[in-house]
Amino acid sequence: MARRTMWTTDRIITTPYEKIEIPNCTVYDYVWENLEKWPEKTLSVCADTGRGYTYEQAFNLSNAFAANLRLKLNIRDGDTVSMMLPNIPDFPLIAIGILGAGGVISTINPIYTAHEVQRLLVMSNSKAIVTMPDKLKTVQDALKLAKINIPIVIVKTNGDAAPENTFCFNELSEDVHVDKSCLKEVRRSPTDTCFLPYSSGTTGLPKGVELSHRNLVANMQQMNNPKIRNHMDTSATHQDAVLGCLPFFHIYGASVIMFHKISVGAKIVALSKFTPDSYFKSLEKYKIDILYAAPPMILLMGGHPASTTETLQHLRSVINGAAPLSSTDVERFLSKVKNGIDIRQAYGLTETSPLVIMPPTGINNYQTVGYPVSNTEAKIVDQDLKVLGPNEAGELLLRGPQVMKGYRDNPKANSEVFTADGWFRTGDVAIADDKGLITITDRIKELIKVKGYQVPPAELEALLREHPAVLDAAVIGIPHSSKGEVPKAFIVLKDGQKAEAKDIKDFVKERVAPFKKIESVEFLDSIPKSSAGKILRKDLKAKYA
Ligand code: AMP
Repeated sequence: MARRTMWTTDRIITTPYEKIEIPNCTVYDYVWENLEKWPEKTLSVCADTGRGYTYEQAFNLSNAFAANLRLKLNIRDGDTVSMMLPNIPDFPLIAIGILGAGGVISTINPIYTAHEVQRLLVMSNSKAIVTMPDKLKTVQDALKLAKINIPIVIVKTNGDAAPENTFCFNELSEDVHVDKSCLKEVRRSPTDTCFLPYSSGTTGLPKGVELSHRNLVANMQQMNNPKIRNHMDTSATHQDAVLGCLPFFHIYGASVIMFHKISVGAKIVALSKFTPDSYFKSLEKYKIDILYAAPPMILLMGGHPASTTETLQHLRSVINGAAPLSSTDVERFLSKVKNGIDIRQAYGLTETSPLVIMPPTGINNYQTVGYPVSNTEAKIVDQDLKVLGPNEAGELLLRGPQVMKGYRDNPKANSEVFTADGWFRTGDVAIADDKGLITITDRIKELIKVKGYQVPPAELEALLREHPAVLDAAVIGIPHSSKGEVPKAFIVLKDGQKAEAKDIKDFVKERVAPFKKIESVEFLDSIPKSSAGKILRKDLKAKYA
C-alpha cells in the first residue's frame, strides 16, 4: 500500500484507495438495500436484557413508526425530529423511521439538562422529540423554557403505560393496521439534509451540522473499501457483532456503528449504560468481533482487572477515533489480546460524516491516522493558508463528498470554516510524511474534548458570565490522565464581589451535563485578550495548562 507518495506537485495529499461511485439514493434506501439477504439475522440487541429485533422485524416496525409519524404527528418532508435517547436496540428503528417519514434526525445527549436541551430544540426547529420515560421531566422543562409545544414520543422498555399527553413509540411501531401508503408521498433527494447533529466547530457555540443523504451514503461507501474495511463478507453462517458502546447520538456511533453496520448486515449490541463491568461482560457474552472505541476504552482494556485474554478473545478489529490515542495505552492493550488483531486509529469530525482519514488494514503504526479515504483530498497549511509540504506541521484542510453542506442558518460560521475555493478547515494540526501518511499532532480550535465528547469553551464562558459575581470568564482544556482533557476556568470577579472556586464549579455543575463540569478555577485580574477582543487562549494555555 502506498509505496509511491500520495503528494501531488501542488502539495495536495491524495488517496491511495480506489475511487468509489456514490449511489444516488437516500440513507433509508442504502441501509435496507440488502434486507432480503438476511431478514432473520439480528439487527440490534440490548446488551443487558437480550431484547432485540431481527432485520425483518426492524424494517416492519420502523416503517409503521414512519407512517404514524406522518399520520398522527403530522411530520412532513424536511421536518426535524429530535432523538434524546441512550443506546437502546430501538434507536436504529426510530432513526431510520424518521428518515422513512421524510424527516431529518437531530440527536441530543440524553444526560443533557433542560437548559441545554431547550437550546438545541429551538435551534433545530424540531417538530417532535423521542425520549425515554425517565427523561420526560427534562424534556417538558426544556419545552417550557423554550416556550414551545411539540409532541413527545416515549419509548417504553417495560410494561408501564406511556404518560399522559405523550405518544408511545411501541404503539406507533406495533400498529399493524397503519396505512403505510402515505410513505409513498415522501420526496427526499440525496442532496437533502437527513441528519442534524451539533458541533461547535472551530469556534463559538454548538451549531447544527447539515449532513445530506449523499454525505452519509458516500461515507458508507468509503468505509466499504476493501483496503480499509473491517467487516467480513456477509454470509449465511457469519454475522459480525459490533458493540454499540459509543453513543449513537454522536456521528461516530450513528454513521459508523449504526447506519453502516446495518447496511452490511451486522449485529449491533446496544450498551445503554457504560460501566467497566457491563462493557467487559458484553465483549465476551456477545462475542464482539468489531469494536469502535475512544481512547478511554483502550486505556480501560489495557489496565482493568476484568480485561483478560478471555473477555477480549473474540475481538478481531479495534478502531480508535474521537480523540488522540497514546502508544503506551495501545501497547498495554496489545499485551491482553491475541496476535494479529487489527488495531488502527481513524480520524473524523461531525462535519465530515465522520470518516475522512484512515490507515489500511495491517498497518503497524498506531500514531498515524492514515491516508485520506476514497474520493478525499487533504492539505496542510500555515496561518496564512499557504500550503505546506511533507514533514511540516500546520492546519489540516479537507475536501470530499462526505464534507457537510454547512452549518444551518449560519453564513458567518460557514464563511469561516470553508476557504474561498471550497476546502474545509478542521482546526486540527497535522503533519504528513514523505508518502502522505498523516498524524494529528495538536488542536488549534477552541474545542475541549472530554472522553471524546465535545465541550465548547464558549458555552461554559457564556454560562459563567451569568453568575452574579462574575465579570468575565475564559475556559481552556487542560490535560487529564484518563479523560484526555478537562475544562479549567479563569474568572474575573466584579468589583466588591466575592466567590470561592467551589461556588463557581457548583454553579456550572447544576446547569450542564456532568462531563462538561469545570475541574479547576483560577481567579485573575483580567482575561488576556487580543485588540479585537478575542480571548488569547494560547497565552492562558502556555501559562496555566
Ligand atoms: P467530533 O466532531 O465530536 O467528532 O470531534 C472532532 C474532533 O475530534 C476533531 O476535529 C479532532 O480534534 C478530534 N479527533 C477525532 N479523531 C481523532 C484522532 N484519531 N486523533 C486526534 N484527534 C481526533
